[in-house]
This record gives sequence, structure tokens and C-alpha cells, in this order.
Amino acid sequence: QALVAMLMFFFLLHILQTDTAERSELDRDLRAAVRERQFVLHYQPQLNGANRVIGAEVLIRWLHPQRGLLAPGEFIDHAEHTGLIIPIGHWVLEQTAEQLHQWQDEPLYRDIDLAVNISQKQFSQNSFVAEIAGLIERHRIDAQRLELELTETLIVHDMEDLTRKMTALVERGVRFSLDDFGTGFSSLSHLKRLPLSKLKIDRSFICDVLSDANSEAIVRSVIALGQSMGMTVIAEGVETEAQRHFLASNGCNQFQGYLLGRPMPLADFRAFVQRHNG
Ligand code: C2E
Ligand code: CA
Ligand code: CA
Ligand code: CA
Repeated sequence: QALVAMLMFFFLLHILQTDTAERSELDRDLRAAVRERQFVLHYQPQLNGANRVIGAEVLIRWLHPQRGLLAPGEFIDHAEHTGLIIPIGHWVLEQTAEQLHQWQDEPLYRDIDLAVNISQKQFSQNSFVAEIAGLIERHRIDAQRLELELTETLIVHDMEDLTRKMTALVERGVRFSLDDFGTGFSSLSHLKRLPLSKLKIDRSFICDVLSDANSEAIVRSVIALGQSMGMTVIAEGVETEAQRHFLASNGCNQFQGYLLGRPMPLADFRAFVQRHNG
């Protein structure tokens, strides 16, 4: 028995050490990535019911020198824990604003909105409102083109701080959407008090909307709820024509997902817009 206990101990120690080693490697690499700006942005198209591109969600990728292109799932959590999300998020916002600025002179892209994911840490910084306001001013962009995606986790944190910051930015023209809607625990009374312009129905509900009665009921109610509160409703993770058809016939306004277009580099996104809106 003592032997088994000892073996268990060394086994656990081993797991812990490998975990720490991998972690510090990730940590070291991610710090270098921030210094050397080893990131790129991909754009996932968002379409309306008439199949026109009305915007894109901006999604970060890490161009790792050895491991190649890494999806956010590989590093965003770590960035969030260590605070590295602050410089990373700052970079994403700067790039997005620069892109919006360039598009202002191109008729085909002038009406394309860009939606940026904002992390909890980023939003809770005291300087957040000033950062966004400064961004709009420095890049001389139309604030209406900039959409900030918040998740429900943010809502349960500090309603007062949240409302104050959101209101200040909405007054400047910025719009907010609630991401992954339905997966968190935001109450309807919270929802009512926030200046949101869009609800994004989470992919998990869209995924089995045609096979699961509960998902179907949730999707129907979210669409009805959004409509009654004057918000735009967008479905994320639309993968099949049948899903899109169901959503459209239930009043969903916008669609995002592999069916319409995967997240893609800028050049491909431009070609996509050309094809759909040109
Ligand atoms: P999210 O905000 O929910 O973004 C949507 C994710 O769903 C993206 O994954 C996208 O590629 C994926 N997706 C879109 N359509 C489909 C579909 O039809 N089927 C399936 N299976 N997946 C689909 P991605 O790019 O790997 O991003 C993952 C998460 O990383 C994002 O989830 C977001 O929370 C976070 N993230 C991405 N970029 C940023 C960023 O710049 N800042 C912050 N703070 N977080 C980011
Ligand atoms: Ca998002
Ligand atoms: Ca989402
Ligand atoms: Ca999601």
C-alpha cells in the first residue's frame, strides 16, 4: 500500500511538472509574441437575410514561429490569466480601427461593420472608455462601424461599472452585442438595463436547433426576446442550409457560420465582399 501511494505521488508530481513546463514555455512564447507582434486577424463574414455582407467578426490568430497558425483556444485563456490579454486586446483594437479607417474611402466596404471580442480583464480596466474613445479619434473612424462583443460573464460582475462604461461609449456611437447568449446566467432584468444593440445566439443552440426540442424553444424565444427589445439577433455557428432556413423563418436577422464563410485572412474577406456585395 505504501508503494502504491508512493507511485501515485511520483505520478502526480510528474504530471504537475510537465504541466508547469508546458505552461512556462507557452508563457515565454506568448510574451515574445506580444513583443514581436506575431498575430494576425481573420475576418468571419456576417450576412443579412438578403445574403449581403453587413460586417465581420474579427478573430485573432497567433503565427507561432515553430507551431504555425494557432487558434485563440490555444492561448487566450493563458493571456487572460496573466494579463497579457491587455496588450493583445490593444493590438486587436488598433488593427481593427486602422482597417475601418482604410475602408472609409472604399464605397464597397464603407458599410462593413467590424465586431471585436472584448475580454473581461480588458473591459474592467479603468481606462477602457478612454482607450476606445481615443481609438475612434486617432483613427478618425465612424464609431457606428465598431461593435464590441461582450459575454454574459461580464454582466454578473459589476452591473454599475458595466452600465456606466457602456453608456459612455454608446453616447459616442459605439455599439455593443451580447456574445454566446444563452450560455451564461444574465437575468432578463439585467438585459433590459443594458444599452445592447445585438444578441448573438450561441453556437451550441444553433448546432442542434433542428434535432433538440429544447434548443429549438430557446432559439425561438431568444429571437422573439431580441425583437421585442428592439435588438438585432444574429445566429453564430450556422453550418447548414436547413439551420439557416429555420432561423430566417423565425425572424433571425443575421447569420454567421461555416455555411456562409469561415474566418479568413483579409484578402479573402475582400474577395468575399466583392462576390456578395459587388
Ligand atoms: P467566439 O467569440 O464565440 O467566436 C466564434 C468562434 O466560433 C470562432 O472560433 C469561430 O471560428 C467559430 N465558428 C464560427 N462559425 C462556426 C461554425 O459554423 N462552426 C463551428 N464549429 N465553429 C464556428 P475561434 O476563432 O477559434 O475563436 C474562439 C474564441 O476565442 C472566440 O469565441 C473568442 O471568445 C476568442 N477570441 C477570438 N479572438 C479574440 C480576440 O481578439 N480577443 C479576445 N479577447 N478573444 C478572442
Ligand atoms: Ca465573439
Ligand atoms: Ca460567440
Ligand atoms: Ca460561442
